[in-house]
Amino acid sequence: MERSAVMLDNSPALVLNADFRPLSYYPLSLWSWQDAVKAVFLDRVNIVSEYDRLVSSPTFKMRLPSVVSLKTYVKPALFPAFTRFNVFLRDRFSCQYCGAQDDLTFDHVTPRSRGGLTRWDNVVAACSPCNLAKGGDMPVVAGMLPRQTPYRPTVFELHRNGRLFPPNYLHDSWLDYLYWDTELEP
Ligand SMILES: [Zn+2]
Repeated sequence: MERSAVMLDNSPALVLNADFRPLSYYPLSLWSWQDAVKAVFLDRVNIVSEYDRLVSSPTFKMRLPSVVSLKTYVKPALFPAFTRFNVFLRDRFSCQYCGAQDDLTFDHVTPRSRGGLTRWDNVVAACSPCNLAKGGDMPVVAGMLPRQTPYRPTVFELHRNGRLFPPNYLHDSWLDYLYWDTELEP
């Protein structure tokens, strides 16, 4: 089964902040249906939208929530987590040396063998051929400088790039709360 089908089979709920924006975009704030139902019973969230799927026990029956909003506003983080996906997103899923969008991996600008750290300001998206060509050389020696000096992005900057690369498992009911211009794959 495809990842998108698995995601929606699990019926996760999109979690909105009290201002009706997603609690987080990267990764998208999703709770398992079990957590979402629990939060409803603890009165921590409002149900904004529901799946058709019913869940029942001897004492209750309800439709699974597909979108919930927190009753109490949580201050969003300014900086996103340092994750592989977020590095790709910052670099718009393109090799920072040649611009290729296939066969992507990561490159340490200052190689690890020369003390380069695994941090926002030293890791870039790179295609395998460029990664291999650069090897353990410093950028100047290899004649390969990244197109954009790596930096720690803000959530806002990732959000801007994320509009170009929406996740492929969005449920219909989530779209009103995500990007205005998100298109679903057919
Ligand atoms: Zn490349």
